[in-house]
Amino acid sequence: MNSRRDLLKTVGAGMLLKLIPVGAFAADLVKFVDVRLWPADEYTRVTLEHAGAIKYKHFLIENPWRMVIDLLDMRLDTTLKDLTSRLQADDPFVQQIRVAQYDANTVRLVFDLKTEVKPEIFTIEPIAEYKNRFVVDFYPKYPNDPLLALLQKEDPMLREDEISRALRLAEAETNGTLKLESGSAGSAPNTEVAKTEPNAPVNSKPKFEVRRMITVAIDPGHGGEDPGAIGKGGTYEKNVVLAISKRLKTEIDKMPGMRAMLTRNGDFFVPLNTRVKKARSVNADLFVSVHADAFIRPTAGGSSVYVLSERGATSTAAKWIANKENASDLIGGVNIKGTDAQLAKVLLDLSTTAQINDSLKLGDAVLGNLGKVNRLHKPRVEQAGFAVLRAPDIPSILIETAFISNPAEEKQLTNAAHQQKLAEAIAKGIANYFAKNPPVARTPLT
Ligand SMILES: [Zn+2]
Repeated sequence: MNSRRDLLKTVGAGMLLKLIPVGAFAADLVKFVDVRLWPADEYTRVTLEHAGAIKYKHFLIENPWRMVIDLLDMRLDTTLKDLTSRLQADDPFVQQIRVAQYDANTVRLVFDLKTEVKPEIFTIEPIAEYKNRFVVDFYPKYPNDPLLALLQKEDPMLREDEISRALRLAEAETNGTLKLESGSAGSAPNTEVAKTEPNAPVNSKPKFEVRRMITVAIDPGHGGEDPGAIGKGGTYEKNVVLAISKRLKTEIDKMPGMRAMLTRNGDFFVPLNTRVKKARSVNADLFVSVHADAFIRPTAGGSSVYVLSERGATSTAAKWIANKENASDLIGGVNIKGTDAQLAKVLLDLSTTAQINDSLKLGDAVLGNLGKVNRLHKPRVEQAGFAVLRAPDIPSILIETAFISNPAEEKQLTNAAHQQKLAEAIAKGIANYFAKNPPVARTPLT
């Protein structure tokens, strides 16, 4: 029958009196701390930060697509209500958000969607400055192919079928089934290209020219829920490193035969593994992670460059920095269920001696150029176990452009002219590296 009446029958009046004030007290304490929205082309993240743990149920409805989330044992408050005002009209996935007290104990959130999505919903235990977080990620059902995006950007006039042909050729090239020769006049190229077009005259210009572009993956550290280090003046590492990375991309794109891609182009969180995956998916020749970390001593300053270490770190400071950078996934918020454990294992298992040797050469070249525009924290490249530098087949460096914890350097980091100087120095270092170590045909891992 009436469960409330049953409860009244079984629970003594004295106990009820005790229960009510405790409940009221808890409701005051356990509330939403903040709600945040991180829209990006790749995925939109909604974060509800709550003083207590969040219990929930969710379901997806089609025609039109909407995501319904019921927050259980929850009361609607002004912080949560404010979520609706955080939505931007140009959000790639979410059209509208509706929030209401559905019944006495349930708050219902309805996300009206612009398109079919692949949602990921998970919670994160309190860490660093954050309380309990409830996270909804709206991923596109059909994600963009980063290599295709790179090719389309290069030449918007390319037709789809030409792009797919180029991709097939590029794949053949990486698989070692295609050996493109620079083709001196008169020598018939003994290649797969010739086989597929047997009637093509030897010296005729192919319909689609496969260029071996050098691709540099630029990885602006942190983003979204993970601010990185925060300066005394309120500067966020994630913002200055994105600004420097965009400038670095412009510098590299200006160089003949070179192009750059960013592992993130906006203020959203990208897991460390995903950063490496993105670089590999475009067959990057280099991976350059850009940071501006903090240190305990505010006097610590200068630029530094790090590469992966197979064993221990070369200094305690390097180890300290690596631990801080590796915490990005915990702070930024990774769906543990969704992480690619298999890939992580593959990346960790492979020998990386060759990668480290190349990375050291790249690091030296970049450090040398940074030393011309900024003082150096350490005169040589340091090594530690950075998770983001683990692509076994891509020379990878992590640059701490400066210390955001140093007030003078924090100021410089926000200065556009100084950002440009840093970007140009890094680009020069990369060019110097390739001048001495021309890229060879990539050998695939798998
Ligand atoms: Zn960092």
